[in-house]
Parts: sequence; C-alpha cells; structure tokens
Amino acid sequence: MYDLVIVGAGLTGGTLARCFAEAGRRVLVVEKRSHIGGNAYDEADDHGVLVHRYGPHIFHTNDEAVWKFLSRFTRWRPYTHRVLARVQDRLVPFPINRRTLVMLYGEEALNKGVKAFLDARRIPLAHPRNAEEQVLAAVGPELYEWFFRDYTRKQWGRLPRDLSPLVTARIPVRDNDDDRYFTDRFQAMPAEGYHAMFRRLFDHPNITVWLNTSWNDVSEEVHFRRLIYTGPIDAFFDHIFGPLPYRSLKFQWKHHEEPTVQPVATINEPAHPVFTRTTEFKHMTGQVHPGTTVVAEIPAADGDPYYPIPAPDTNDRRARYLAEASHLSAVRFFGRLGQYRYFNMDQVVAEALEGFRALRAEGW
Ligand SMILES: Cc1cc2nc3c(=O)[nH]c(=O)nc-3n(C[C@H](O)[C@H](O)[C@H](O)COP(=O)(O)OP(=O)(O)OC[C@H]3O[C@@H](n4cnc5c(N)ncnc54)[C@H](O)[C@@H]3O)c2cc1C
Repeated sequence: MYDLVIVGAGLTGGTLARCFAEAGRRVLVVEKRSHIGGNAYDEADDHGVLVHRYGPHIFHTNDEAVWKFLSRFTRWRPYTHRVLARVQDRLVPFPINRRTLVMLYGEEALNKGVKAFLDARRIPLAHPRNAEEQVLAAVGPELYEWFFRDYTRKQWGRLPRDLSPLVTARIPVRDNDDDRYFTDRFQAMPAEGYHAMFRRLFDHPNITVWLNTSWNDVSEEVHFRRLIYTGPIDAFFDHIFGPLPYRSLKFQWKHHEEPTVQPVATINEPAHPVFTRTTEFKHMTGQVHPGTTVVAEIPAADGDPYYPIPAPDTNDRRARYLAEASHLSAVRFFGRLGQYRYFNMDQVVAEALEGFRALRAEGW
C-alpha cells in the first residue's frame, strides 16, 4: 500500500516524489520509459559523448527557491547559452540584437539606433492577435520572413497566424549587443549531467521507482491512496474530448572525429527545408573529448508528445480536460503534459514545490 503514486519520472514527478518522501509519505513512481529524468534525460552516446536524448536542455531561472532546491542534488557548471541563426547565408546572433542588424544591413543603417531602425519597419498593431501579427508588430515583414515565418511553421506544423502571440513573444529583440539567449540570473548545466542529478533526486528510502511500466498496465493492481499524474492529461481521460495535439521531434545524430564543429552550441536554420536547428552538446556540457556529436531536430506530428501547442482551439480543449480533472478528489495533474502548458524546467519545479505545499495543507 502506497500513500501516493506518481505517474512519470520526469522533473515534475521527481520533485513531487522527493518532497512527499521527505514528509514521510511512501511514494511509488511509475515510469513507462527505461530511465528516470523525462525529457531532460542525458547519457553518453556510442562514442562516449554526453548528449541529451530528447533535445538540448539548458537550465536557467530567476527563481531562487528552484535553484536552491535543485542545488541539493547537483553541483553546477556555469554556462551561458548562445545561438546563431543562418540567415541570408550568414551566421548572425539570435535573438535579434544590434549586432544582428549591423551584420545584415550594415553599420550605417543602424546609426540612429535599433529602435529607429525597427520603427521604420514594424507594422503598427496595438493588439496582435496571433504570432504572425506579434512579430510583424515587433520587427516588420523582412525580419519576420527571414527569422520567424518558416522556422515557426516547421516547428509547430501551423502557420504563425494560427498560433498564440505568446509563442513568439517569448523571444526578445535587443537594442544592444547582448547575445545571451537567456538573461536569467541563474544559468548553468548540472556538473555531472542531468541523469546524475535525477539519480540523487529519486534516491530516498521512501521512494520506489518502477521503470518500463505504463500506468495503464498496472493501475488495477497497485494499492494507493492518492495519485499524481504527470503524463498527458487527455490520455488519462481516454481522450473523451478529443486528443490534445502535441508537436514531436525526430532527431538526426551525427558524430564527428573532430573536437568541435560549430562556433556555438545551437545554430537555428530558419531556411532549411527540414531541420529547425542543430546543437553540439560539448559547448554546453564542457566535456573534453577528441570527437563531438551534433543533433539536428526535425519537427513531426507523430511521436513522443514534446510540445503542447499554444493556440485558441487547444486552449478550449485543455480547459475542458482541466474542468474534468477538478472533479477528482484523489488525483491531481502536474507538469508540462499534465497541465498541457509550455513549461520550462524551472517552471515545472516551481509548480511542483508550490503544489506540494498546497496538497500538504489539504492533508495529502
Ligand atoms: C526538445 C525540448 C527541449 C527543451 N529544452 C529546454 C531547455 O533548454 N530548458 C528548459 O528549462 N526546458 C526545456 N524543455 C522543457 C523540459 O523538457 C520540461 O520542462 C520538463 O522536462 C518537463 O518535465 P515533466 O516531468 O513535466 O515532463 P516530462 O519530462 O515529459 O516527463 C513526463 C514523464 O511521464 C512519463 N509518462 C507519461 N505517460 C505515462 C504513463 N501512462 N505511464 C508511465 N509513465 C508515463 C513519460 O515517459 C515521461 O518520462 C525542453 C523540452 C523539449 C521537448
């Protein structure tokens, strides 16, 4: 008999399992994959290069409580993520900053500053209704086409005009030369990798983990009082309101017998017919190795559910599932898939820490 079953051994499941275990609860974690860590899982590839199996994961946060919590389970390697975009056959800094514009338009075009440059190009739209309008209002049609239109269409399988403005509003435009991708106070990679961090997170006498186990296959046999579900909420309810769409990815791996092949960790490829971006992991992990491994990401409609799609139609369907969930007193839904929200790692940890406090107050 377990006090609590948690479905999913990702960062959400791990944070909640640890908190409840430390509060004296006996916790069973059920994970259908063969490993803990969810999409943040990393491992050495066949050549011994540490890679992130489900795409590059950079930890960044402004939330001190999240930083302190995870720091109990890992030391950190300071790391500042930088991205270049291949545009007009050049590699230019992304997000767009002053230097990006100078490289594309020349120093003279920027002599009145970035704001004046963009003011002359942007389309005045006070209340952008979708991602296309959001970018046109920020940078105008040419930069929209070069950096955003095809990248967004590939990434999401929808035209930017069919996506929420929040999708592109996450990406700033800078009037200075700051070429950091994230500007959060804490930016780092786990010093020994994510998997080592996850091993310590789950390592508690009150936590039992069953790998290679789908909840659907064991839900009848397990005795428990309460359940936390971090898998896809629509699957839990047998898709009664129809499936929530997820965007997936295929990964194309390439090993090179050279120490490094890219100037920075990630290169965005807006104009490539298939890939969205390529990432060379050694920049992020700091691993010393004579070879290097690069992954190219190819967005796909089918496969593991990686990205909830932020759009008006999916918001409505999501709301119906969340309303259905609110009728269940012994089951709660957390995480990127449980809430169907585009959460970063720090956000799922913050949500889990806050959720733990709320559930304890309810007597969980
Ligand atoms: C390509 C990509 C890149 C990303 N990059 C970053 C980044 O750079 N920085 C950042 O902060 N965030 C990044 N993220 C987001 C990050 O992956 C998530 O915030 C985080 O992993 C969410 O954790 P989670 O536990 O909620 O979900 P997940 O990691 O998805 O874990 C859920 C787990 O539940 C399991 N599960 C589902 N259904 C069942 C079932 N029925 N039975 C048993 N187990 C089940 C799954 O196998 C999975 O392991 C990225 C995400 C992707 C896809």
